[in-house]
Amino acid sequence: MQEKYIALAGNPNVGKSTIFNALTGLKQHTGNWSGKTVDIAFGRYMHNNKNYLLADLPGCYSIKSSSSEEYCAAEAIRDERTDGIIVVCDACSLERNLNLVIQICEISENVVMAVNFVDVAKKRGIDIDFKKLEDKLKISVVKVNARKKTGFSELMNCITQSKINKSMKIKYGHYIETAINIKRNGTQNKSKQNG
Ligand code: GDP
Repeated sequence: MQEKYIALAGNPNVGKSTIFNALTGLKQHTGNWSGKTVDIAFGRYMHNNKNYLLADLPGCYSIKSSSSEEYCAAEAIRDERTDGIIVVCDACSLERNLNLVIQICEISENVVMAVNFVDVAKKRGIDIDFKKLEDKLKISVVKVNARKKTGFSELMNCITQSKINKSMKIKYGHYIETAINIKRNGTQNKSKQNG
């Protein structure tokens, strides 16, 4: 049976390694300082008789390759062999985390958002509308608690079922879209404008 390759992405310190360790039984070092994960760790996991190869990607805020961590994570996310990406997010800083989620949704077809740190969010009185997030992003959004190991089964069900079929298409407005098209089409667009 062929195994599926699933990457765990996310900002630093959102609980990726904790989830990875819990799923694979491995002991990736965890700590609460940024930039500790510089390599990709791999581990295996079985769910509903299906085999998964999980990759714990370096923590990053974007996939624009401005650091070696971002470059490494971006390469893995763009890799055609990646069957799905779980973007782990901190429930207490969703707005900042969504930047990476959206960037990944724009280039990847099978993305699931795992909202971690729900215990801390609850203590802080942060109330998250999961249904609205799913409707807006058009991906599955799953509540997990990495420390208590809850929500993992639903997470793996969602990444297996793949709710969306195509990458997210965001309209950035006239000026940015024009700039993107010029860059994409290069000389073709320029000659049309001149002609
Ligand atoms: P990574 O940098 O994304 O891999 O994050 P880690 O897995 O290293 O987690 C960073 C810290 O947050 C560790 O001390 C974890 O024990 C802790 N942590 C992870 N998930 C949770 C959670 O759901 N709730 C709480 N309270 N702490 C968590």
